[in-house]
Amino acid sequence: MNKSGMVTEIRTQIRKEPFAGKYELAAGKELGRGKFAVVKKCTEKATGKPYAAKFLRKRRKGADCRMDILNEIAVLELAKANPYVVGLHEVYETSSEIILVLECAAGGEIFDQCVAEDDEAFKEKDVIRLAKQILNGVAFLHRNNVVHLDLKPQNILLTSARPLGDIRIVDFGLSRRMEKITEVREILGTPEYVAPEILNYEPISTATDMWSIGVLICVMLTGESPFLGDDNQKTFLNISQVNIDYSEDMFDRISSLAVDFIKSLLVKNPRKRATAEECLKHPWLNPHPLSQPLLQKMLAFSLDDNEMSQSESEPESPAHSPELGSFESFLMCPGQGGLKAGLGAFSFSEPPFPTRPEIKQELIC
Ligand code: ADP
Ligand code: MG
Repeated sequence: MNKSGMVTEIRTQIRKEPFAGKYELAAGKELGRGKFAVVKKCTEKATGKPYAAKFLRKRRKGADCRMDILNEIAVLELAKANPYVVGLHEVYETSSEIILVLECAAGGEIFDQCVAEDDEAFKEKDVIRLAKQILNGVAFLHRNNVVHLDLKPQNILLTSARPLGDIRIVDFGLSRRMEKITEVREILGTPEYVAPEILNYEPISTATDMWSIGVLICVMLTGESPFLGDDNQKTFLNISQVNIDYSEDMFDRISSLAVDFIKSLLVKNPRKRATAEECLKHPWLNPHPLSQPLLQKMLAFSLDDNEMSQSESEPESPAHSPELGSFESFLMCPGQGGLKAGLGAFSFSEPPFPTRPEIKQELIC
């Protein structure tokens, strides 16, 4: 039976011929692995092009999950026009698996750079560029009434790590079409990134993704997970109380515009949370030409001195200017449509994330 909000009509041909006839699996390490999927690098024999093959088990915990996979394919099809959503090349099916042949994001998960030490970690200017791309992709999904529902650093990949490439959003296994949702009884997600409305059995919407983006950007900028507690219970308490202290040291290293941006997303009331389109207009991502020197000064907190070029090292500016002071007006009530998430319907299967640098992936299911 279809779960609420899933789309299962697909246009992509599901090939039944052997995958190995057309692709050669690359020797060596897997590209990644989730609970029900293994992702391996492969080469298309005819073209020599590299791809990522995602092998998805059709039966999970004794249940037939083919529809979940069709839903993932349908969302990938819908998002084909957006460059920041991973491309779907072909689909194969065996008796036990469906194989998605995806564009290969060779730079791996942004997760790795989120937890990297100093020199290897993202600089704020990098996060600004990548955040725009993530928001562009998510705004596209939201315009098409699709919610991702599992945005986190493990599901945002890079086309190349060094030099830092562009982002690709992956893993649409939990995505839902808003207009098709009546009620969600089975929410999957990752404890640190779930929005308060999910925990409170309240309607979820596109704003639910925006909360996760707030957490994601915070992790990209600071390397720290803002709501992480010693166990899931504490993490959930931190989330529902929006227990975040912006005067903590971790926020000293980032610009006040970045903090303002995060504040616009980590808002308990989903209707008061910034939308993806609004975020794209935020001054953090769109420095006013006149405020460029000020912005550079603020960004300098997170840039190595020797990385700033001559032109970037502009003269001194005052710490605050009226045009950068308050962004209250930037926040509007998005008025998102809703659905119900059932807290009682999901459980948490793995221990909580350890603190940096060993944050690892986990799932609610
Ligand atoms: P799951 O639903 O099991 O989490 P994902 O789609 O997130 O599956 O894939 C698991 C991991 O595999 C990702 O976190 C990433 O590390 C890697 N991966 C997935 N898709 C690609 C891709 N297109 N290119 C490179 N690596 C990928
Ligand atoms: Mg994943």
